[in-house]
Amino acid sequence: MSFKNLNLINPIVRAVTEAGYSRPTEIQSTAIPHILAGRDIIACAQTGTGKTAAFAMPILQLLKRHNPEHQGIRTLILTPTRELAIQIEENFSIYSKYLPLSQLSVFGGVSIGGQLAALRKRVDILVATPGRLLDLVNQRHIDLSKLEILVLDEADRMLDMGFVNDVKKVLQLLPRKRQTLFFSATMPVSIKKFAETILNNPVEVTVTPVSSTAQTVKQSVYFVEKKDKTDLLIDILQEKSTVRSLVFTRTKHVANKLVQQLEDVGIFAAAIHGNKSQAARQNALEDFKSSRINVLVATDIAARGIDIDDLPNVVNYELPNVPETYVHRIGRTGRAGAEGTAISFCDADERVDLKNIQKLIGFTVPVRSFYK
Ligand code: AMP
Repeated sequence: MSFKNLNLINPIVRAVTEAGYSRPTEIQSTAIPHILAGRDIIACAQTGTGKTAAFAMPILQLLKRHNPEHQGIRTLILTPTRELAIQIEENFSIYSKYLPLSQLSVFGGVSIGGQLAALRKRVDILVATPGRLLDLVNQRHIDLSKLEILVLDEADRMLDMGFVNDVKKVLQLLPRKRQTLFFSATMPVSIKKFAETILNNPVEVTVTPVSSTAQTVKQSVYFVEKKDKTDLLIDILQEKSTVRSLVFTRTKHVANKLVQQLEDVGIFAAAIHGNKSQAARQNALEDFKSSRINVLVATDIAARGIDIDDLPNVVNYELPNVPETYVHRIGRTGRAGAEGTAISFCDADERVDLKNIQKLIGFTVPVRSFYK
């Protein structure tokens, strides 16, 4: 299955290909055809399955196809937290790179001024947390009466966090005739009942959760202070100098800095992340595949699309704050029964991330000692 087979238009396929995605994930290949056909959907999918792109790509296509002259907010994505709002907006801006559509996120906990200024410009897609959205509507800075598509993202979390009344108030502001996409990581009866009240003849979509790591991957964690991480990485890479390693960081900035620090001690490495051109990323990958360099430093977005067989070593220089991402990262090693190692660095701030990861994978990752 390819993105083209899903009947996605060229500008979208080009943008996701440049983001490093090579083929649709399960939720994408299942949900996208229904969304493009204009159906409501109720999808049970966790973070890490590619659910954001599963709704973002077809929404962009629908907005492009219908009435591009339409002014005002055409799609609303309601999401429980500020972090998710920012992440969803970032994903939309990556996928809409070659389309004349614009997106904005608004959320509480920050001053409203910047958001007001941004709302004066054209906004096709608005990503919002419920409370701040209602504030802005009440102050008449947002009009949702022309909305075409509503997405409820992480509905279970949104309701758990006590947003139920706010969500109901938002629903009353929307046209009845609209397309609604409902996403939730879990689907208890209460959530399903709630969904039924707002969806119109929905298609149900469920994908297998990402929670298991291959038995063949030897996992370990070092408790290490942030300032010592680079030295520890250098030690490990020098010891494993003949082995290809994929090193994960959370941000592009850290990835670039790390490559520089490794090169300073004679370890040849390359970074792949969203700011690099397609050609630069392709070159780095080729060098890695052909073992001209043995270390690739990557952020999650860039790395998710790359398919490298025979990858013996994954290092989490920084732990992800989404536990499913850990499973995806280390899923790059130990494939098809091959032995692999996954080494994680955990500083004091990341203890909570490690705890969440261990809860998801269902076991405690063995601790290794820093001092030999
Ligand atoms: P999500 O489940 O939306 O949080 O997505 C998890 C991660 O998967 C994000 O970092 C996305 O950028 C990435 N992703 C989404 N779709 C694909 C794809 N088809 N191929 C590779 N990575 C993807």
